[in-house]
Amino acid sequence: MPDDLWGRRLMVDATWGTGEPLRDVLGPVADGRAFDDDHPPRADLIADCVHCGFCLPACPTYVLWGAEADSPRGRIYLMNEGVNGEPLSGSMVEHFDKCLGCMSCVTACPSGVQYDRLIEDTRAQVERRFTRDPGDALLRRAIFAVFPYPRRLRLLRGPLRAYQKSGLQGWVARSGLLARLGPTLTTLESLAPRLRKVPPPPRRVAARGTRRAVVGMLTGCVQGAFFPEVNSATVRILAAEGCDVVIPPGQGCCGALSVHNGRRDEALGFARRLIDTFEHTGLDYFVVNAAGCGSSLKEYGQLLADDPSYAERATAFAAKVRDLAELLDELGPVAPRHPLPLTVAYHDACHLGHAQGIRAQPRALLRGIPELQLREIADADLCCGSAGIWNILNPVPAAELGDRKAANVLATGADLLVTANPGCMMQVAAALNRNGTTMAMAHTAQVLDASIRNLGPKAFSD
Ligand code: SF4
Ligand code: SF4
Repeated sequence: MPDDLWGRRLMVDATWGTGEPLRDVLGPVADGRAFDDDHPPRADLIADCVHCGFCLPACPTYVLWGAEADSPRGRIYLMNEGVNGEPLSGSMVEHFDKCLGCMSCVTACPSGVQYDRLIEDTRAQVERRFTRDPGDALLRRAIFAVFPYPRRLRLLRGPLRAYQKSGLQGWVARSGLLARLGPTLTTLESLAPRLRKVPPPPRRVAARGTRRAVVGMLTGCVQGAFFPEVNSATVRILAAEGCDVVIPPGQGCCGALSVHNGRRDEALGFARRLIDTFEHTGLDYFVVNAAGCGSSLKEYGQLLADDPSYAERATAFAAKVRDLAELLDELGPVAPRHPLPLTVAYHDACHLGHAQGIRAQPRALLRGIPELQLREIADADLCCGSAGIWNILNPVPAAELGDRKAANVLATGADLLVTANPGCMMQVAAALNRNGTTMAMAHTAQVLDASIRNLGPKAFSD
């Protein structure tokens, strides 16, 4: 075994409480080195891990399976093996794949280990260097041929609405047909939200009253196609709070889904295009209402660091990125809030809470609404199992995490679940539905919008 950054004796002897050395859980090895020289997981970042184990109870896959190799510490160990010349085995890739990328371990780690950077670099290596089995490769190809393309996603709206409205959905559910076709199809079907018709936002909306900022807005892929009402609410709030809102049509994907799944070249293309689209619009801020997109956009400087024609521009652009709640908190309220007598459970999307550290701002905004009561959800730090496309790729454990989250949400006794990520909404709604219950759900933007427009609780009672 080669020398490593943590000390050879520890590596050989460690079982970390499992009674099973990690080497034994690795499967047969493939040929060649695990990682090439194009951004491998950095040895100095790996060395920051002092293997204390504080991150283990925070990790959803460790909570589910209790296996060291499916914990943050175990995955960092495997990265270290790869850095030290071990080949990329199927077993190693499986443990990396099983990571939700929820970044709960980043929050939990007292040593400041940058697991987010480590897993992002590892995933890019896996996608370039590992040959997946044909079924897995095909599913991933299909997902990435559709999901990061807002126009293609919008084309699905018509057939999906027809499926939901024709009664076919009810028949399919009763027939048990999907269950026979497998958990991936069952999951895809269960995640589809009820679609509403909303006109597309105009290119520019003027601030109401004195203008305080010019804000570019990301319409997003899933958000734009399946939750256009969230984008409409976002535009109205920003205008009401004194922002000119710039919304170029055809703005495309931000690349979050691609970068989180190791498709770095694809992500680079999306990032460059988005910067080109917004760069000359004179914006003070670039606002995002989907947690996963926001966390990636804030890292554009790092993503494009090797591109001399974009590196500086990407850093400047990323400095303007704000989550909606973050920006509204920064600006402070000017639009009067009307009472909204509702009990609300707020769910922290992982890419908002763990990845961006935005927890206080949405709660402060909600508490600023007269007569609204806020309740906390037990085990709030644990992912709901959505995690981008993780729930499609791993439908069975994702359903288990979804069921846990749904039970904790229901236990709050709240009237309304509020969160700031379309994936979380779909995941928790599917879990509630699976367990024979429903609950009203809304994005933070919709709750603020309802308060500012004095719509009352009936706004959430369809
Ligand atoms: S908490 Fe941090 S330092 Fe401790 S084992 Fe986990 S990643 Fe390593
Ligand atoms: S990102 Fe989430 S799933 Fe992955 S190792 Fe960290 S806590 Fe576990």
